[in-house]
Amino acid sequence: MKYLSTRGHAARPEFCDILLGGLAPDGGLYLPETYPQVTRAELDAWRGLSYADLAFAILSKYITDIPAADLKAICDKTYTADVYRFVRPGDNAADITPVHWLEAGRFGLLELSNGPTLAFKDMAMQLLGNLFEYVLDKRGETINILGATSGDTGSAAEYAMRGKHGVTVFMLSPHGKMSPFQRAQMYSLQDANIYNIAVTGMFDDAQDIVKAVSNDAAFKAKYKIGAVNSINWARVAAQIVYYFKGYFAATKSNDEQVAFCVPSGNFGNICAGHIARQMGLPVSRLILATNENDVLDEFFQTGVYRPRKAAETQVTSSPSMDISKASNFERFVFDLVGRNPQRVAELWKSVDAGGTFDLAASGEFADSRNYAFVSGRSTHADRLATIRQVFETYGTVIDTHTADGVKVAWDCADSVPAGVPLLVLETALPVKFAETIREALGREPERPAELDGIEALPQRVEVMAPDVDAIKRFIVQHLEA
Ligand SMILES: *Cc1c(COP(=O)(O)O)cnc(C)c1O
Repeated sequence: MKYLSTRGHAARPEFCDILLGGLAPDGGLYLPETYPQVTRAELDAWRGLSYADLAFAILSKYITDIPAADLKAICDKTYTADVYRFVRPGDNAADITPVHWLEAGRFGLLELSNGPTLAFKDMAMQLLGNLFEYVLDKRGETINILGATSGDTGSAAEYAMRGKHGVTVFMLSPHGKMSPFQRAQMYSLQDANIYNIAVTGMFDDAQDIVKAVSNDAAFKAKYKIGAVNSINWARVAAQIVYYFKGYFAATKSNDEQVAFCVPSGNFGNICAGHIARQMGLPVSRLILATNENDVLDEFFQTGVYRPRKAAETQVTSSPSMDISKASNFERFVFDLVGRNPQRVAELWKSVDAGGTFDLAASGEFADSRNYAFVSGRSTHADRLATIRQVFETYGTVIDTHTADGVKVAWDCADSVPAGVPLLVLETALPVKFAETIREALGREPERPAELDGIEALPQRVEVMAPDVDAIKRFIVQHLEA
């Protein structure tokens, strides 16, 4: 399988060549040249597979430059009941992503938050950690991952990369701005290849430092600085798998359809759902849910894409969806405009300059009907009401992001044909967002016993001023030590 850039760059790299990098040289995102089509015979054969075997079956269509036996071993090592062990009581960890039915056979949660950091980013990031180690070992290379996080992404990256040969992680977080639980999750890691740096500033200050360091091309090359951001193709590819797994769990035969509702921020998760559908998975609807930061809902309602300014981006109680522009959205628009890279380059010329585009005015939005998307938005008040209603009706406590999904799934239920099961993707466990659970239910969310008292564990974190040069010195010192 060869990969192309959404903006038309001539190179056609293979999977391992784009694994460790970010954007294509022309600023575009990588996509496979074609979406492999899944035959009915394959779907029938896949229905009974374990998660790891299903991951291998799907990923081997996209990863053709790793020998099959090695890729199989990587999938087997990644998707184990031991890694994804935080399933809800009564659900089977061996399923990796079990469906937790709220209404049997009709309405359920696809549990994606069973990994070490209790959020769906572990689904892809754990695979990424093993792929990085494999490719770096093969090539005799190393990489130093520099990132900024306000919570989920950074901790998922650290738990994926801890102890991996060839990989060192420098993760910046805003000092004192994360919840005690989130801090404990990250800072209690004692692995020698993980460095936590708490920056005395806001998340944006941390992000600016990462940008400044990455823009220093000489430093970046000399110290092999890389990233694991959400535009990484391997992350999207890994996420395709659980749409198939959820489909098989919710249906008895491959003649049936399923609808998915996805709490969305950077469009990475639902982009994988779109690709699963393009491969031939019988998906009747992809329901996109946003919080108050509704740039994507606005697009699917109107055809206008209007990224927000930083000052317009709201801090909400579903913080992992607080985005101003959706970094993976370009992949979907590429398909929507007929896979025309010149057109994408033209649209993003405007976006990258702070502008907007309107695909309704150009007539191209009409084609979005072919892609099964509908959308809605949710607010803090909706989250509280939804968490309460789900608890009162079904006895299940859901997190704030999943609550955005359930709220919008209810709003959009009419768009799902009768008899089609609707799965809301559960993107985090409630214990990560305890403050809002207390506000909604007046009680503490359940915490997996294993994580009792993690706040009291010794922490390994360097507190530093938001000073680019000081942080560069810290990196150099620790790499050369
Ligand atoms: C990252 C994240 C999301 C948003 O996913 P995207 O792939 O960015 O759309 C939603 N919920 C949680 C809990 C997350 O961590």
